[in-house]
Order: sequence, then C-alpha cells, then structure tokens
Amino acid sequence: MYQTTLGELGNKLPIGLLQDDGSLLKDFDLRPYKGHTDRAISKWQSQNSDNGPGHLVVGTTTKLISLCVSHIHGHATPLTTQNDSSPDTLAKIYSWPFMDVMYLNLYIRRQVLGPDFLVPVGCPQCGFKGNMCFDLDSIPVWVAESGEDLFQWYDLRDHIKVKETIRSVRVGYSLWSTIAKPGVIEQAAQGTHGLTALQECLTAVNREETQRVILPDEIDEFSKYDLVKIEQLTAKTMAGPKMQTVVYCPGDHKGDTCNFPFVNPMDWTYDHFFGMSFPQGDMMS
Ligand SMILES: [Zn+2]
Repeated sequence: MYQTTLGELGNKLPIGLLQDDGSLLKDFDLRPYKGHTDRAISKWQSQNSDNGPGHLVVGTTTKLISLCVSHIHGHATPLTTQNDSSPDTLAKIYSWPFMDVMYLNLYIRRQVLGPDFLVPVGCPQCGFKGNMCFDLDSIPVWVAESGEDLFQWYDLRDHIKVKETIRSVRVGYSLWSTIAKPGVIEQAAQGTHGLTALQECLTAVNREETQRVILPDEIDEFSKYDLVKIEQLTAKTMAGPKMQTVVYCPGDHKGDTCNFPFVNPMDWTYDHFFGMSFPQGDMMS
C-alpha cells in the first residue's frame, strides 16, 4: 500500500479487480461528459424518483459512472445506440469496491469541471464568511499494490458462537452494493462505518480462505471491543481516497492570517458535486 494524491494517480483505481495471481487490474478510461449524459441521468432520475432519497443518490452516482467510464478492468463499456449505458454495466458497478466507485466519482468530477471545489465556511475564530476553494487534485489516496494489501486477519478477543465458534475474521473492503442496504448511506454521508458496512467487510472466518459471510445474528454477538478494533483495522488498511475537504481560514485574526482549519466530510452526491460546487468566477467568465 502506498499513499499518493488524486492528481498523481489519475486514471488508475486505488483497488481494482483482483486476479487469481493476486495482481489488480487498475486501468480505466472516461468518455467526454456531454449533453446526452445529462439527459440520460435526468431520465433515470425521473423514472426512479419513487425509490426514496437514499436510493436516488446511490443510483444517480451509479448511473453517472456507467455513462462516463468507457473502459475498465480490461473491458470496454460501450453506450447503447441511444447514448445510454447498458443494464449490464449498471449491474456490474454494484460489485466493484466501494472506494473505487468513490474514486471514479471524484475523478469524473475533476475531469469534467476541473479541480476547484467550493466549500462554504463560517469561521468561529475571526468571523470570516465565504466560499473557500478546495483542490480536488490534492485529495490523499491510498493505493493497494496487490491482493495482499486488501485483506488482513483479526483474532477476536471474545470468541462468539451462533452457528459455529468464530475465533478470527478476515477483514477486507466493502463493495458498492453495501451502500444500497438500509441505513448505510446516512452513515457514509457522515464519514462513518455502520455495523452493516463493517459486517460487509468480513469475508472469511477462522483463518480459512473460503468465502464465508457473517450473518446479522453473528455480528450482533461481537463484543464492542472487537468491533472497535476491526473498525480501526479497516480505517488503517482500506485503500481509497480520503473523503473529506480541508481548507484554512484566510480571514484576519489579531493582525495575522487566521488559518482556522475547516475539515468536513465531502458531499459527493451528484446534485451537489456536479451542480453547485464549481467556482462562481468560472461560471461568470
Ligand atoms: Zn478565521
């Protein structure tokens, strides 16, 4: 695993598609975002508006990516003759790593509207109010170099038994499909893992490499101590972009630059990320 920035990594995925030999397919390409891209997104949104706001946010991001990615994991993802994405591509995205989807969303935004992202701030130290510009190219990204970077075994301090005794769990990464589960999107928007998201990261038990899902009844029996340790492990080992903005206050404070740090979770939802958030100066010129 190594750390870089979005500007440096460019069109490579932080995780990618795991191959049998442990290597990861990371290349992807985008097609230009055009008027018909907007049209396809609006059409999708109006056809799916009954599904609730959480699903709409997740679905719109999935739709955007299906329309903008032209090549990924060694395969072309062509549009239909109506300039729409294929149902096959849409379905596949849900099986991609959550953090790869987040990276694609950030990278598409950076390529389509440029690296400047406006963050509204109000300073408690000097009273400065205004919009600050955050550089999307500066986003830290952790990159997995092989399959070994993606999984780690954790030995439970408190063994549990529902179906069988579980003494250890393999901690990995969650898939984009995780976000479609109840409650997960609200937690992701606040930058935290819920219990469901954590459960999705656990893919094997007792140091056996066979895939084995952890059942809801089982995760409920994990001790708080082990849950906290597992969450810390995912935070430390998970590849992907850091989903937050950091800007420093430019106001005056006692004759000096204030420099109060504003750290916020990044609002990556389509309506915000591709609409309101590019600098007004650019829109006027
Ligand atoms: Zn300030």
